[in-house]
Amino acid sequence: MEHYDLIVIGSGPAGRRAAIQAAKFGRDVLVVERGRRVGGVSVHTGTIPSKTLRETVLNLTGWRERGFYGSSYRVKQDLTAADLRARLHITLNHEVDVLEHQFSRNKVDTVRGEARFVESHMIEVEGDAGEILKYSADKFVIAVGTNPFRPGYVPFDGKFVLDSDEILDLGEIPRSIAVIGAGVIGVEYASIFSALDVHVTLIEPRETMLDFLDKELVADFTHQLRDRGIAMRFGAKVEAIEKHGSADCEIKLEGGRSVRSNVILFAAGRMGATPSLNLDSCGLSVDHRGRLKVDPETFQTEVSHIFAAGDVIGFPSLASTSMEQGRIASCHALGEAAHDPPEYFPYGIYAVPEISTVGMTEEEIKERGIPYECGVARFRETSRGHIMGLDTGMLKMIFSLKTRRLLGCHIVGEGATELVHIGQAVLNLRGTLEYFVENTFNYPTLAEAYKIAALDAWNRMPPLED
Ligand SMILES: Cc1cc2nc3c(=O)[nH]c(=O)nc-3n(C[C@H](O)[C@H](O)[C@H](O)COP(=O)(O)OP(=O)(O)OC[C@H]3O[C@@H](n4cnc5c(N)ncnc54)[C@H](O)[C@@H]3O)c2cc1C
Repeated sequence: MEHYDLIVIGSGPAGRRAAIQAAKFGRDVLVVERGRRVGGVSVHTGTIPSKTLRETVLNLTGWRERGFYGSSYRVKQDLTAADLRARLHITLNHEVDVLEHQFSRNKVDTVRGEARFVESHMIEVEGDAGEILKYSADKFVIAVGTNPFRPGYVPFDGKFVLDSDEILDLGEIPRSIAVIGAGVIGVEYASIFSALDVHVTLIEPRETMLDFLDKELVADFTHQLRDRGIAMRFGAKVEAIEKHGSADCEIKLEGGRSVRSNVILFAAGRMGATPSLNLDSCGLSVDHRGRLKVDPETFQTEVSHIFAAGDVIGFPSLASTSMEQGRIASCHALGEAAHDPPEYFPYGIYAVPEISTVGMTEEEIKERGIPYECGVARFRETSRGHIMGLDTGMLKMIFSLKTRRLLGCHIVGEGATELVHIGQAVLNLRGTLEYFVENTFNYPTLAEAYKIAALDAWNRMPPLED
């Protein structure tokens, strides 16, 4: 039986970073991955595929150019599901190739198979043919991620009623789709399908969506979705789902309404991929969503030599944060110095349009009783926006009246997930309104919206005291 300094279970963003960090400390590290190839949900069914699909849809439909050439403008007529998949495979292969190279360059051992604990310092790895290998280690990082939540009342069939993993294998582009769950994943896919001119209905049992975002931003986003013809059925639970035949699905909602569509995407939540780990044998337990509890600073579980990172520990469940968590978990597991994660991290939602946000929302600031002022810029106020033909898009910043520090930055529109990093830097470096007012921005850029929003706030702020 081989012994390692660290065994990492799962090769997604959290596991990958944990393993590479350990290897950089000169430790012997093994990554166990049950999937066919390394990369995790992020590379194979989540982040990268959905973002590649989005990019392909925006390119082939000519979405970004429609402001100039009209809504009937297309780069490619009669788009097929095969057109959408072609770019996906190329991108995924590149991603996996880079990861495999990273592992081999850093001398990280990998083994393919499903890991389960035998006791707290030992795991078994079961390969496809049922062969079993045993490994032991001083320390472990559990980075097994999540699987889509598949409740019993949903008649998943892999063809017309799909979860967010299966949607990528759609045989043809449907005429209509009903998306159940207006969380990040549901909203992203709903807006991507709508950009393909598929008739979309978004269903959510709560009255609101994306509650962790600034409400003004959600209102702007919701208006854009409605304006594009996305139907929203909010505030009603799904009572039943029926299939009447091929490509004819019916969702019965509480209150008597029903929604018919060719395809249903069920995107209401994910479950920690912990059932197969046999956690009882190492003294760990999980919550009702299969997630592990950790110390938020060290990522140590209740068993001192076992750490956990990524989606398996719950919010924020992002590839970006999972990577950092994996790295920090590895440092703590191996007794090496680790810096604390910064106070604010950005959140990116790759819907059409994009949303990105960092820092406090206006609602949080109000709740904390901090005196504040907001500044808003519309992308159509920038020259870059004119060149790009943008008539939507907004950037909102919130400043403290007392310290003039930036407290939150919220963007909806083209390039939001890139633009937000300017706000993030100023926020984490404790910058003030003056940074935006006094600095020069490239022209013409969408980043100029920062200056416009800052000046908008400045107009209403009391003068700077000497
Ligand atoms: C549709 C979708 C879109 C997303 N978009 C974004 C986005 O735009 N930006 C963003 O930051 N995040 C996004 N995310 C979230 C992101 O994908 C996750 O936060 C990230 O993948 C979590 O990384 P992880 O390392 O925790 O786990 P995962 O990426 O889930 O990897 C876990 C790995 O562990 C393996 N595993 C599980 N159990 C075992 C076992 N017993 N033995 C061996 N191996 C095992 C799995 O096979 C898997 O490969 C998206 C997610 C989805 C589903």
